[in-house]
Amino acid sequence: MENDDPRHQGMRKKLVEGLRIKGIRDENVLSAIEKVPRHLFMESSFLNFAYKDQAFPIGSGQTISQPYTVAFQTQLLEVKKNDKILEVGTGSGYQAAVLLEMGARLYTIERQKDLFLKAQSFLPEIGYHPACFFGDGWLGLPGFAPFDKILVTAGAPSVPAALKEQLKTGGRLVIPVGNENRQEMIVIIRISENEFKSEKHGGFIFVPLLKGTVN
Ligand code: SAH
Repeated sequence: MENDDPRHQGMRKKLVEGLRIKGIRDENVLSAIEKVPRHLFMESSFLNFAYKDQAFPIGSGQTISQPYTVAFQTQLLEVKKNDKILEVGTGSGYQAAVLLEMGARLYTIERQKDLFLKAQSFLPEIGYHPACFFGDGWLGLPGFAPFDKILVTAGAPSVPAALKEQLKTGGRLVIPVGNENRQEMIVIIRISENEFKSEKHGGFIFVPLLKGTVN
């Protein structure tokens, strides 16, 4: 790929070794992270930080999640090839690229127009083809539901009812839930039409899941 040289590839190998040491076990997640050129999702001034395990600003007051957080959420999602997945919070598009690299059929929604436009034009340029939507992820995408998996990449004060409704039976919703300072990573599994089970997976800090859209 243009703008992705052996130096970047070497940095990604090191990043992946670090994620392994921090406990990420899903080999499909690790190999996707090894393939996606994260540096291309950041401003060039941050190039030297692209493969540190840290979050970074992507403009419009938003951040590209820390690689460990991307890996952890993706691992909890238990992605299988051809899974139909909804991502809430497209942001830079990096998480979307990781899911596509794993063979997902991806729908991704972003509430900030500038970020939506940027991701929608940039992702295909580097070979990733999600369906990008501008809208409020609190509502999900009822016209395209149900989904095998739903991933929320912003911290929610509570679990949006629409997202539970848009899950297939057997499907998984991964969502950080809490206040502005700390969210618990929750996995909700739809056991049957009316039954849900939930698991807790530790504390994280995300930018907030907000309502409405910004033009
Ligand atoms: N997945 C992104 C992480 C971006 S941070 C990445 O890989 O870069 C979270 C994103 O969620 C921000 O871009 C923010 O604008 C967006 N967001 C917050 N509330 C939202 C909502 N209700 N619907 C859709 N996107 C939302």
